[in-house]
Amino acid sequence: MATQPHTKIDGSAQGAFNVSRWFLGSFSWIKRRPEPKPLYNKKIVEILDFLESAQLEPTPENYKFAWEYNYGASLQFCLAVDEMIEGHGRVTIASVEQLTEVFLDVCSTSELSELISNGKRVLRNGHEIISNNRNENRDYSHAMEQEVGKIDSTQGDQNQLKTLINMTNTIVEKSQEAERQLKEAETQIAEMRKKLNEVTQQAETDQLTGLPNRWAFEDYLKNALLRSKEAFEPLTVAFIDIDKFKLINDNHGHEAGDRILQRVAKHLDAMSDDKCHLARHGGEEFVILFLDKTSRQVFEIIDNARSELAEHNFMNRETNEEIGTVSFSAGIASLAGDGNPRLMLRRADAALYSAKENGRNQVVIDQSEFVH
Ligand code: GH3
Ligand code: MG
Ligand code: MG
Repeated sequence: MATQPHTKIDGSAQGAFNVSRWFLGSFSWIKRRPEPKPLYNKKIVEILDFLESAQLEPTPENYKFAWEYNYGASLQFCLAVDEMIEGHGRVTIASVEQLTEVFLDVCSTSELSELISNGKRVLRNGHEIISNNRNENRDYSHAMEQEVGKIDSTQGDQNQLKTLINMTNTIVEKSQEAERQLKEAETQIAEMRKKLNEVTQQAETDQLTGLPNRWAFEDYLKNALLRSKEAFEPLTVAFIDIDKFKLINDNHGHEAGDRILQRVAKHLDAMSDDKCHLARHGGEEFVILFLDKTSRQVFEIIDNARSELAEHNFMNRETNEEIGTVSFSAGIASLAGDGNPRLMLRRADAALYSAKENGRNQVVIDQSEFVH
């Protein structure tokens, strides 16, 4: 549960082939090219060193994994990798696959790329319609100007008047057709926007509880960080984990477990407002982000929710068996002067670990806040 500060992977494995050398060596023509920018080069070497020390081959998937871990923006992903390194002592191929699937492939890429290419096509068509229409109008106006000029000098010429009327009709027809096509394009764009919203909404919502999921939480966190830094407001996070939840599943079945999760989610959601964002972090864990609240204020709120929940006696409505009380443990931490959200999450996670170690059904504030 608790995570240690960024774990350095032991790169001294005997017999490990030198990935950087192998990778760069197999592209010897690179040497003839101008020197890459130092920062870029440094990053590549660091990534390759990371892969080498983790004994991972430099495949595109592993490269993406290493890049996201070292330079990516996803805090949750970095925390999960740190936890995995702590648990296994190193990065394993299976865990790379699992974490990549869970954290880095949020949306179905085929679905998104289909949406994007549809969007581009519709917009391109729209632009073509507009510019064709504009060109045609320009040509016709030019021709009309010439005809009008002739009418002035040869007043009463029926043929030229007819030509003029025909031209006017053609312009009207062309404009109407262009308008119809544009309306159709607009409808298509509106439909696409709706579908994109639905996909985004789906990708950011937890199906079981209807709460925002960890992806939505990352968005909240990014926005909250900006706001907290701009307004000099405190920012506090709480990790919540249901106690001994596995026993509920084991004793009453997975479906009863699901219903308990829904009830706990609803209970916690009661505290949500525009300055308090709750998300299901995964499994039986929730995370809440509090804007403009110190950890002591958050402690009061979460501890009330904890004692209220612990008073309730749950029943299994399918079997009428008593499930009993359900409790949770929580860890709280505020953004410190370093402004590092990753450390804040790590400290909250460590506080949650202490709450579990101290006997569960309790809320613990990050200890480093008491050390000055
Ligand atoms: P602790 O107090 O240490 O947190 O104990 P715990 O049993 O809650 O923790 P543990 O990590 O051992 O088990 C968590 C369990 O939560 C295991 C997993 O099957 C269950 N779980 C995770 N997601 C779901 C879900 O969506 N539905 C149900 N019913 N169970 C879930
Ligand atoms: Mg858990
Ligand atoms: Mg638990």
